[in-house]
Amino acid sequence: MIDRDRMTEYVMDLIRIDSPSRREREVALRLKKDMEDIGGRCVFDSVDKKVGGNVGNLIVKIKGNTEGVSPFFLSAHMDTVSPGEGIKPHIVNGVIRSDGTTILGSDDKSGIAIIVEVVRTLKERNIPHGDIEIAFTVCEEIGLLGARYMDCSIFNSKYGVVLDSGSPYHLITKCPSAKRLEFKVYGLEAHAGVCPERGINAIKVASDAISRMRLGRIDFETTANIGIIEGGIATNIVPGYVRVVGEVRSHSEEKLMDQVEHMKRCFVESVAEYKLNLEGKHYSARVEELIEKSYDRMNVSPEAKIVKLLTHAARELGYNVELHASGGGCDANYFNKKGIECVNLGTGMKEIHTPNEYLVLEEFYRAAEIILQTIKLNALNTL
Ligand SMILES: [Zn+2]
Repeated sequence: MIDRDRMTEYVMDLIRIDSPSRREREVALRLKKDMEDIGGRCVFDSVDKKVGGNVGNLIVKIKGNTEGVSPFFLSAHMDTVSPGEGIKPHIVNGVIRSDGTTILGSDDKSGIAIIVEVVRTLKERNIPHGDIEIAFTVCEEIGLLGARYMDCSIFNSKYGVVLDSGSPYHLITKCPSAKRLEFKVYGLEAHAGVCPERGINAIKVASDAISRMRLGRIDFETTANIGIIEGGIATNIVPGYVRVVGEVRSHSEEKLMDQVEHMKRCFVESVAEYKLNLEGKHYSARVEELIEKSYDRMNVSPEAKIVKLLTHAARELGYNVELHASGGGCDANYFNKKGIECVNLGTGMKEIHTPNEYLVLEEFYRAAEIILQTIKLNALNTL
């Protein structure tokens, strides 16, 4: 039922439109036009003002053609990571790739193209369906900002699907909570050659703290990372300041807090070991910390209606879709929090956020077939 050639061409078109985070306007206007052409009602929200972007989230509502069917929510994000400008997609052996100098941007243009193809098919073939509500979001890649600030009370849907992961045979129902940790370590500057003993090396203090830390995979559901370290001015100055930024993710709130506390403690302990007495004056290293929530976890029950609908629909098509936990957050984390029970289905995108990113066309088509079948099943009201 899905028009494979049309959706392939469409995703290539979308990929060719640059849409880095905060600059999704061009792709958003194209989508708005295409959705209006098939009878969608489109509005932009005002999230752009909040995030400093050039366009808000695009909200599309497609009127149902069947009474008494629960509305169905679909979402994909419009922004891409860098290097993602001037992408030249081409097809080789059933996959779409870039020319190797940029990412491909199938994350998440493939999700968008699936949604558009499904809606076109519903319309063309006059397939029974209820209202379809769509959010094409901005700034997913820089902290799920579009979904985070979206006013979800404009939607009537109670459940739906985000298309923003790798395999259409994997349905992500669990994503971790995440926190961002920033540590500012202060030492004492001194000339490194003339009087190093009059300094406290902030880089050394931070290094000691980090070397005490448990990092990487903490357990099956918890990870931690130090990702940024910045400081120092010159080789001949004992550095007086360094900034360290990291993150913790876990499917368990308790483990998340434990790991955050552990990392804080490492800094506090390290700092306590660096003290200096100069002509009767006491100096000591110190640390300032800023811990922020990045997003809350999601955990959709295997018994949830959306999970049943989607797995049944896939089975009707002869595919087995397994439930999975993800190590990353996605817009669905926020939609769940805001009352729309959402799962995340893969689109065939692989090796995302690298120049090797590619889209497996068979999986891309399969995801569209599964979503179409899920919407059909939803309209039957049998589950
Ligand atoms: Zn994505």
